[in-house]
Amino acid sequence: MPDQHGDPGREPLLRLSRRSSLISGSKTSGTRNKAEALRARGVDIVNFAAGELDFAPHPEVLSALRHTADADVHRYTDTGGIPALREALAERISRLSGVAYTPSEVLVTAGAKHALYLACLVLLDSGDEALVPNPGWGTFQAQIKLAGAVPVPVETADTGFVPTVERLDALRTPRTRMLVLNTPNNPTGAVYPPHVLAEITAWARQHGVWILFDECYGELVLPGARHAHPAALVDGARELVVGIGSFSKSFAVTGWRVGHVHGPAAVISAMKNLQSHTTSNVTSVVQHALLPAARGELDDFVAEARQVLLHRHGIVEKALAATAHLSATTPQGAFYFFVDGRDVIGRTLRGVEVTDGGVLAELLLEHAGIALTPGSAFGSEGFLRLSYAIAEDRITAGLTRLREVMDDVR
Ligand code: PLP
Repeated sequence: MPDQHGDPGREPLLRLSRRSSLISGSKTSGTRNKAEALRARGVDIVNFAAGELDFAPHPEVLSALRHTADADVHRYTDTGGIPALREALAERISRLSGVAYTPSEVLVTAGAKHALYLACLVLLDSGDEALVPNPGWGTFQAQIKLAGAVPVPVETADTGFVPTVERLDALRTPRTRMLVLNTPNNPTGAVYPPHVLAEITAWARQHGVWILFDECYGELVLPGARHAHPAALVDGARELVVGIGSFSKSFAVTGWRVGHVHGPAAVISAMKNLQSHTTSNVTSVVQHALLPAARGELDDFVAEARQVLLHRHGIVEKALAATAHLSATTPQGAFYFFVDGRDVIGRTLRGVEVTDGGVLAELLLEHAGIALTPGSAFGSEGFLRLSYAIAEDRITAGLTRLREVMDDVR
């Protein structure tokens, strides 16, 4: 085993913390990196593993960034975010959720990911339990563990990828402290129906359970579905909901690392204290550059993204229906299909036994040049996540290859 200085065969001189062994690196980036490495070697890969829109950011966002680079905004900012951005966000969140939030109930963070982490550290004590829908984005469970708490998976594969009160209640113990809700969902694309969200919220309120509400894809909902906010659905729920949002997905600026959180002032203040000792503040220039987006001046960009995604969604749905051995519950938001490949497990593909979803993903990469993320990265064996946030011609090419290779399953 290599030691901490990379010398193979030598025992490490000093050990790492126990905490660091609780988690491994993000599994979703593993597939993406493998596809990128193959592509760099000249292999034609259709990358259905992307977790971000393929669009260039809005030109006004980019010109605002250039403009702020020349302005005098290069110092530390207020820990919680520049006042103008917090004000704009408070207004935006209030308008979209239907629940009034003030700037002091909003914190700007280094991506939604850091907001989620700060929330886990503030809401959970060692040994507490947190309910997490499964399949789900792996970071939730990792962060709960890092906070010293215990993630408790709530199966949703047989309930349309939407958690039910019955199942939550069956898993509730005196240690249950928090429930994670992520809608529209990564990896399933499910949008929780408002009446189910209301039942769950009433249940959480009754039992004194925090709701960590990740709505990073909240503006990417297809027609026919409605994104609702739990605090708007149940009287008194505002006190238990910590809402997480992001510019990453809707405005195609994943690399800028700007997310935000809203919730009760005491929670936000505790998170701000933590942020003051960890990242200090989000990069000053990008905070300024995102002001027009936060103020709603670029909402046409998000509307256009929805239109494009709707079109691509139709292409994927049609192609999957014509593909042997694969199926999918029709997603209503985000930009993912969670493809059920369980029928292939135990069969062979071009002579190789498909023992699990990971093997299937490897074979698809090798034989068809298409990268999909194995469902095991999200806790669901035998599924594959397909992201359609890539160009239409690539989607069409990739799905044609997928159909052809799946015809060779025996
Ligand atoms: N929440 C969910 C459900 C996600 O899928 C992602 C990214 O994939 C994030 C949060 C992270 O967003 P950000 O880029 O703002 O950290």
